Amino acid sequence: MTARLFIDGQWVAPVSGETFDVIDPGKGKPFAEVARAGAADVDLAVKAARRAFDEGPWPKLSFAERGAVLRKMAALISDRIDELAELEVRDNGKPLPEARWDIEDVVGCFEYYADMAEGFASEQSQPVSVGADDFTSRVRKEPLGVVGAIVPWNFPMLMAAWKVAPALAAGCTVVLKPSEVTPMTALVYGEIAEAAGLPAGALNILTGFGPEVGAPLSEHPLVDKVAFTGSVPTGSKIMQAAAQDVKTISLELGGKSPFIVFADSDLEAAVEWIMFGIFWNQGEVCSATSRVLVEREMYEPLLERLSAECAKLKIGYGMDEDVLLGAIVNEAQHRKILAAIESGKESGARLVCGGKAPAHLSEGYYLEATIFADVPTDASIWKEEIFGPVVCINPFDSEAEALREANDSEFGLGAAVMSKDLERCDRVAEGLRAGIVWINCSQPTFIEVPWGGYKRSGIGRELGRWGFEAYLETKQITSYHGGPWGWYIKG
Ligand code: ADP
Repeated sequence: MTARLFIDGQWVAPVSGETFDVIDPGKGKPFAEVARAGAADVDLAVKAARRAFDEGPWPKLSFAERGAVLRKMAALISDRIDELAELEVRDNGKPLPEARWDIEDVVGCFEYYADMAEGFASEQSQPVSVGADDFTSRVRKEPLGVVGAIVPWNFPMLMAAWKVAPALAAGCTVVLKPSEVTPMTALVYGEIAEAAGLPAGALNILTGFGPEVGAPLSEHPLVDKVAFTGSVPTGSKIMQAAAQDVKTISLELGGKSPFIVFADSDLEAAVEWIMFGIFWNQGEVCSATSRVLVEREMYEPLLERLSAECAKLKIGYGMDEDVLLGAIVNEAQHRKILAAIESGKESGARLVCGGKAPAHLSEGYYLEATIFADVPTDASIWKEEIFGPVVCINPFDSEAEALREANDSEFGLGAAVMSKDLERCDRVAEGLRAGIVWINCSQPTFIEVPWGGYKRSGIGRELGRWGFEAYLETKQITSYHGGPWGWYIKG
């Protein structure tokens, strides 16, 4: 089934008949072959989604009816957690327990939006007082239309869920384009949709490359919204493409998220959360806290403890036991991270540990956990996203300095602060220019709360109520209850 596209409820070969290899980054070898879609397939998929929206039953069902289908999808994914987690490991390189966590979150995401849809009926058509005796108004939420969902390779199935689940719950129809680097689990959504009884065309899935599938999808005039997670340059291209027809967009882009650690913090907790903030998912996390600011008193002791823990970190194939740092997603990303490490060395920053591929792994794309300290703040490793297991750590002397340094970035996705002084944490959290701020931790992500960035980290919010409303249009229906209005026709 994998060398097929899922269009209009059918598994079809791409118009070109072409396929491409999917590489297991943990081994550096191909393990599957998928269909290589092109602009002609995009057109077919978008038209199927358009028909399913304009003529099909999906947007006309009640929120509760759609919720029931999403609940079925959640159950079907849940039945396949082990298989899907393994597939994600082979596709992406991450350790199995992390992949399992992703798929559990996918199930949670479908359940959450099933609940939200089922509970939404009671909120539909809210009356709004317009302050005029002869008029009443109500506000109704309606599905936005055809959504092009373009997702990245770091959390392949989960990033798709963050878009597909709320979009379907809202009554939209979707064309999903996974990353060409990790297309496998996205295809499973097609099997799940069929088994759950999702109407044909409500969800379409196209495997293929960015310029060949993502670009025509974001340019297609019959698409109403493009929901994107990925890099800033691609986000910018999508924004330009969407401008042509004034499409709605949501962009979740990169970050260079700061983590401020005050000296009154528990050292062990600081070490652990710094590690989680940058080494989880090999640091291939848009919200990774890759710039750490440590109050000077704690700076050297923390660097010492951190490098000791990094040396113990088991690096290896994601399916192997106790692995905490899996493979980098592909050769190109591996090369990019190594180049960033080289530029870090050239910038004069101190390489505390790591900085190279581990000697004991002869195949696959692995990297050691890498720490740079005393990083010049104009160096590219301090300013630009690396998307790998590389953290930059600098000292600070005052709260004001830490906040200034933290906010001195073109990004604003995540940020974290650690201190035993909770008032200080709140104060700093409120001063941080970022869409997500963690206090005394870094990265835990909950479906109930909004996710998205300030500044160049993006536009719009996913998850929670915000991520649902992002797929709804808002309509006012205003009624007049009087006789002739009396403006033109004078009584
Ligand atoms: P990366 O370079 O790390 O893969 P991208 O932002 O390019 O990050 O990729 C995220 C998603 O965007 C992928 O699914 C990719 O295929 C897609 N993509 C790449 N280029 C374009 C484009 N020009 N238009 C739309 N989508 C694209």
